[in-house]
Amino acid sequence: MPRRHLIIGGGTAGMNAIRTIREEETERSTITLVSAEKPYSRMVLPYYLDRSIAESHVFTATARVLADWGVTTHLGKRATALDTKANACTLDDGTTVEYDDCLIATGSSAVRASVPGADGPGVHSFWTLDQARGVLAQIQPGSHVVMVGAGFIAFTILNSILSLGAKLTIVEVAPRILPRMIDDTGAGLVQTWLEKNGVAVRTGAKLTRIDEVKGRRRLKMAAGGDLVADVVIMATGIRTNLAWLNGSEVKINQGVVVDDHLRSSVANVYAAGDVAEGRDLISQTNAVHAIEPTAQEHGRIVGANMAGKDVRYRGSLIINIVEVCHLDVASFGAWDDAKAETMSGVKADRPAYRKLLWRGDRLTGAIILGPSTDIWTTNDVGMLKGLVQSGVSLGAWKAHLKKNPFDIKPAFIATKTTSSLLPETILGRPSKAPGESPVAV
Ligand SMILES: Cc1cc2nc3c(=O)[nH]c(=O)nc-3n(C[C@H](O)[C@H](O)[C@H](O)COP(=O)(O)OP(=O)(O)OC[C@H]3O[C@@H](n4cnc5c(N)ncnc54)[C@H](O)[C@@H]3O)c2cc1C
Repeated sequence: MPRRHLIIGGGTAGMNAIRTIREEETERSTITLVSAEKPYSRMVLPYYLDRSIAESHVFTATARVLADWGVTTHLGKRATALDTKANACTLDDGTTVEYDDCLIATGSSAVRASVPGADGPGVHSFWTLDQARGVLAQIQPGSHVVMVGAGFIAFTILNSILSLGAKLTIVEVAPRILPRMIDDTGAGLVQTWLEKNGVAVRTGAKLTRIDEVKGRRRLKMAAGGDLVADVVIMATGIRTNLAWLNGSEVKINQGVVVDDHLRSSVANVYAAGDVAEGRDLISQTNAVHAIEPTAQEHGRIVGANMAGKDVRYRGSLIINIVEVCHLDVASFGAWDDAKAETMSGVKADRPAYRKLLWRGDRLTGAIILGPSTDIWTTNDVGMLKGLVQSGVSLGAWKAHLKKNPFDIKPAFIATKTTSSLLPETILGRPSKAPGESPVAV
């Protein structure tokens, strides 16, 4: 069994792998963590931005905890090369770390629209803790914030920006908001809701440059008039952190291509999280899923396999859930599958929307939105996710849902979806309570 494990990247995937190695191993191994940043969760940064949590609560493991777990750390250091023949990783300070097996979990980085002025003062990304600090330092009550890009990440920080007392304008080059999360009907409903809540939205709006004018930012738009902002946030996409692997033997496509044990093309090199191109649960083809649940599950599977277990991964489900101004918006699985049979229902006045996508009598994707205060929104979010994830055969309930797309619960209960999901665990064994685990969880 490999004795020296190297984990590259201390985000969600890397930390879950470390924890699982310690839980699953039968003999104590050596674990080394190399990470450009201290371990923290990016997903909680919106709560740091609206000051509902302190900065210390963002971190997932302190130096003391890592020492207790017996992890040797190189924090604030970057891996710059991987020599898979010599089983050695080189860091940016010239250090070389040798390993028996290693995990690539270097995540992704924010990418800005390539327009003049995009790197100027007052223009921010929001992906790392440092970037979150920068945004927090600049937004004052009454500031005008322009967010460039109306994707999922932009929507995770929308409430926080409003709660700081800022005025918000969102500009999106695509014809609709949330273009990679919901369809035209859903996007139209969300846009109207945001406008009612005081957020200005411009779609089909192309930014061409950003200039500094008397300490403020002027955003030059291709059409429809320019915008003047105090703070600009570029939420214009992310790119996997893979450049450092150039020249290595590891096969890369959109991400590091991995098999059903999350092994790369090099047998003792694994990949997990945003950087991995692994199995999609619904299509059973390979895809990069840059979301937290995939990073957690990948990390758990890799940790178990590094510890000598033989755990197969059945694939990850696309899950997008966001709440804006008390409107829940979610999509699951193959929500944009053009070949699927679809049925939908809209209640524009609430607003509420359900779209169900089918292959035969199984749900393969869904879109749902509705007010967070409606108990049915919350319930249906969970039940639709369960139906897509379990892939249960809905039989005659398909016809019922066609007539009543808002009446999800009877179909969910009658098909015993809960009992098919309950025994499912990532590692194929019951979860351990905190006291039963060798590391704090
Ligand atoms: C504001 C925000 C809100 C989000 N909200 C949600 C949400 O609600 N739901 C959801 O599912 N997802 C959400 N996400 C996405 C989620 O955070 C990511 O999918 C998740 O962090 C991926 O985990 P990871 O371990 O793959 O990568 P990361 O968490 O990005 O960790 C990668 C680590 O690798 C380090 N690293 C990078 N390059 C190197 C190198 N060369 N050498 C050494 N170390 C390196 C980095 O410093 C970092 O520590 C959100 C993200 C952000 C930014």
